[in-house]
Amino acid sequence: MSFSVIIACGGSSTRMGKNKLLIDLKGKSCIRRSCEAFCNIEEICEIIVAAPKEFTGVYKSELTGLDVIFTEGGSTRTKSVAKGVELAKGDYVIIHDGARPLITKNEILACIEDAKKYGSSVLCTKSKDTVRITDGESSYSPDREGVYIVRTPQIFRRDDYLKALDLGGDYTDDAQLLESVGGKIHLTLGNYDNIKLTTEEDITAARAILGDAGMRIGHGYDVHRLVEGRALILGGVNIPCEKGLLGHSDADVLAHAISDSLLGAAALGDIGKHFPDSDPKYKGADSLKLLSEVVALVEKQGYIIGNVDATVKCQAPKLAPHIAAMREKLSCAMGVDISQVSVKATTEEGLGFTGSGEGIAVDAVCVISKR
Ligand code: MG
Repeated sequence: MSFSVIIACGGSSTRMGKNKLLIDLKGKSCIRRSCEAFCNIEEICEIIVAAPKEFTGVYKSELTGLDVIFTEGGSTRTKSVAKGVELAKGDYVIIHDGARPLITKNEILACIEDAKKYGSSVLCTKSKDTVRITDGESSYSPDREGVYIVRTPQIFRRDDYLKALDLGGDYTDDAQLLESVGGKIHLTLGNYDNIKLTTEEDITAARAILGDAGMRIGHGYDVHRLVEGRALILGGVNIPCEKGLLGHSDADVLAHAISDSLLGAAALGDIGKHFPDSDPKYKGADSLKLLSEVVALVEKQGYIIGNVDATVKCQAPKLAPHIAAMREKLSCAMGVDISQVSVKATTEEGLGFTGSGEGIAVDAVCVISKR
């Protein structure tokens, strides 16, 4: 007995306003997770992705390395799945929503076993809620014990499915289609985790189930030596002082530490990698501009900045009068609200190289999260 999988990717994601199949869930797209779950299962002979023509290119690149076939989806879910079923060569078809990325191998195997035994299998969960059915005027509650929520995968004999398709009709669910030709539906109990991404909160829930809060922490540290004959620039603010920081760029140690914390949070290396001090292009560079470029790199990875907190370790001059201006300049360069940027200053009580006035050091931490 062989099984063909049809991944239904026909939805236009109108309820979410973006293509939910491309959403990143802990480093993998939704569609990739939905397909990968069916790979390396002995009974499965092929995986067919039924998707609209305009998305096949981007889905193909998302599924690089997976053994999948594409078919151009129709205008509705039923029509899309129908194209896949017609193409399928298995005795059974396993229909699964592309937007259900949390399906597990164990659930798939349980469905396959049930389909072998009963001729069909529809994965479902028991309803946790009391349901009311209404005809618009009156309503009633069915006994909750007998209420099940239908999910996917759903498995049917391919011949039964083709017979049902011949009769026509458009259904939101394949089990309904099979019933229209008198097909018997066997329910297989599944996990509550196997949610369908329909609205924004489903994405938050899916990430939480995968242990991906979508949040990352970064840390940055930098030191520059204080010398005579240089301007002292901290957080983009030129601070009156007989000494300034030595460096290839403007040596803004605060902007550098914050940049490194952001790059660190996104695992993008450090500023030395992106703006090497061996490159004459960065001689005397405005570090706030580099910080803006760092933010662009982080945003390109799909992150937004939560907040930044930095501590400047400096014996002299007194930095307190300049903190507000630094926060203003830094938040402008990062394109965030000033409330998201904190700068604090401390002396190190005359201890160490900052205490002796040889240099200034900065520690910075930040939080970024998935857009
Ligand atoms: Mg530096």
